[in-house]
This record gives sequence, C-alpha cells and structure tokens, in this order.
Amino acid sequence: MRQPVYKRVLLKLSGEALAGEKGFGIDNDIVNQIALSIKELHNLGVEVAIVVGGGNFWRGRSSEGMDRSTADYMGMLATVINSLAMQDALENLGVLTRVQTAIEMRQIAEPYIRRKAIRHLDKGRVVIFASGTGNPYFSTDTAAALRAAEIEAQVILLAKKVDGVYDSDPKVNPNAIKFDKLSYMEVLKRGLKVMDSTATSLCMDNKIPIRVFGLDNPRNIVDIVLGENIGTCVEE
Ligand code: UDP
Repeated sequence: MRQPVYKRVLLKLSGEALAGEKGFGIDNDIVNQIALSIKELHNLGVEVAIVVGGGNFWRGRSSEGMDRSTADYMGMLATVINSLAMQDALENLGVLTRVQTAIEMRQIAEPYIRRKAIRHLDKGRVVIFASGTGNPYFSTDTAAALRAAEIEAQVILLAKKVDGVYDSDPKVNPNAIKFDKLSYMEVLKRGLKVMDSTATSLCMDNKIPIRVFGLDNPRNIVDIVLGENIGTCVEE
C-alpha cells in the first residue's frame, strides 16, 4: 500500500475552486467532493490544515472606488463564509474540525491561536484558518504561506482551477508549456502566476515547497500526498 509522503500539510483552496462552474458563490457538490478527498487524507493519518480564499464572493483589489482596507475586510469576511461551508461538509462526513479566525468572531469560530491549532492537528482534527492574515493588503495565499510556516507544515497544496503552472495562460495560448518543477526565484523573476510575490517570498524564505495542481479532479489532493507527480512543484 502507498504511504503518505507528508505528515502535515496545508491545503489552500481558492474561493473560485468552491464555486465550480458557477463562478460565484458555493457549489455544494464541489465542496462535498473536496471534503471527501480531505477525509481520505485524514484517514491516512495526515494532519490537514486548510486556508480558504474568498474570491468567489469578493476580492478587495477588484472593488473600484471603495476604500481598499474596507474592501479587504469584506474579502476576509467572505473567507469565513467559505470556511464554514467547508467545515459543515467535513463534519457531515464525520471529520472533526475547528475553524480559527484571524479576526475575532467568537460566536462563530475560535480565534486564531497557533499553539491551539497545533494541538487540534495533533489530536487529528482538521483546522480551517479563516479571514486570511487578518490584515488588509494581504491575500489568502500569503495567509497560507504564513500559517504553513507557523504550524510547520511540510508542504502547501495549492489547489487551482488550472492543473499546474504554465509559461503563459493556457486558456489564451494553446501552446502554453506546463512546468513540472520551478524554483521560487524563477516564479518571481518570470512573474508567473503561482501565488502573489509576498506569498512566494515567504515560502522561499522559509523553504516551504508549493505543489500546484488542478481541482478538476479532487482526488489529486490524495494522490499528491501519496507521492504522485501531479501539477507543478515549486521549491528551491
Ligand atoms: N484578504 C485580505 N487579507 C488577507 C487575506 C484576504 O485583505 O490576509 C481579502 C482580500 O480583499 C482578498 C479577499 O480577502 O481579495 C479574498 O481573498 P483572496 O483573493 O486571497 O481569495 P482567493 O483568490 O484565494 O479566492
């Protein structure tokens, strides 16, 4: 039987991934499929932390004319909606979870406390980190890099709509070439759209590998952890 190659992972789910074909809001079928794969990971004994984006509802940077910080707080609230949807789907499958928010909202979730998060993971609970870093002008990719460093995750599993990193947009250029491997520096120098530069730099400085893959097949999450070469790996 194949064995997991990682013990503790941080899974980053973009808001877009939860919206499926609808492009907006939450597609319950997709969320349930993702939850099934996370349950499988969990059953393999892998400790799973999740950072969820909010782009399926709101992105601060696209809100023209609005005060940027206010718009970003709205985006962070969107990540809480998604986190609760993910929590609900996982708990329906019998997986114990905790949501921790970087902005306190105690009636809904625990506040983010690093040591408590690690304790939950040790006990086999899936921890979902909501409201990004809690600060405007950041992204949930940066929150993923930050939380991964804090909980000492061995890898960031970056689930995207596209199945890896390409030299140009594969939707526009049919001859776009997919990379199997890239260094952080190449991503930064070539301006490749893996994560934003803040998140990429944080991963580089803390030597956290990033595995970029498509969520078209939610089982990719499990197969990567079982050692398969799927998508693009960004590391030193
Ligand atoms: N956001 C923020 N600080 C953070 C994380 C997120 O201000 O630490 C806001 C920001 O406005 C962002 C929105 O929340 O546009 C949704 O997050 P993101 O765009 O990263 O979501 P994704 O693209 O992964 O769905």
